[in-house]
Amino acid sequence: PFAERTPLIAGNWKMNLDHLQAIALVQKLSWSLKDARHDYTDVEVAVFPPFTDLRSVQTLLTADKLPIALGAQDLSPEAAGAFTGDISAAMLAKLEVHYALVGHSERRQGHGESDELIGAKAAAASNAGLVPMICVGETAADLEEHGPAAIPLAQMQAAVSALPEGAEFVIAYEPVWAIGSGQAASAEQAEAVAAALREALRDTVGDERAAATRILYGGSVASQNIAGFMAQPNVDGALVGGASLKSEEFSRIIQFR
Ligand code: PGA
Repeated sequence: PFAERTPLIAGNWKMNLDHLQAIALVQKLSWSLKDARHDYTDVEVAVFPPFTDLRSVQTLLTADKLPIALGAQDLSPEAAGAFTGDISAAMLAKLEVHYALVGHSERRQGHGESDELIGAKAAAASNAGLVPMICVGETAADLEEHGPAAIPLAQMQAAVSALPEGAEFVIAYEPVWAIGSGQAASAEQAEAVAAALREALRDTVGDERAAATRILYGGSVASQNIAGFMAQPNVDGALVGGASLKSEEFSRIIQFR
């Protein structure tokens, strides 16, 4: 029943790599994928560079016709105007950016982003033709207090209900305690929350959209643990931080089969 969901492996570079290093990484990545012995053609690959790198990476992807989608790490909920330092969805769309991350825990925590703001960002992305990648996840304290699924479910509902009807989106389930810690969730933990998220989506956006929506796992994903996550019926890919900065390792993750 889930056959129509193309696996998606996404690299979130966070605040790493200047535009020259970005070009070098994408070139190395495309070489290792071309050399790959394994078949990865049915896997979608995306990278999320910092804003200052987007134009350089876009130029390279277009010139070399590389099968890598481009994503932005953040965007403004506003369309245009007096918003110093912000970047609009339309600016990103013009750069052929396909995805926009919203609600990453580093922005929820470090920038005090509320569910309401995240919903507005997701809607702005969607209205400009981008696909929002909505990040949700519980902290270690949430896990103890509410269990694994309650907070991710509430965060997801808040963002998805702000989207225009029929909008495509991706969910990234990233337990905050697993991000950058080397302590990934187990494949079974990821599956349990992904299944709960998909079940809730059936009520919010209907069976068809729920069945078609990719739900990714993120948090200390590496080449050693990717296969376990991808074997789960409700986990459709990964949002990879640290390991996406190394071309060989990221390429091994993409070739998870
Ligand atoms: P990590 O980060 O893979 O380095 O744990 C994941 C993320 O924050 O998206």
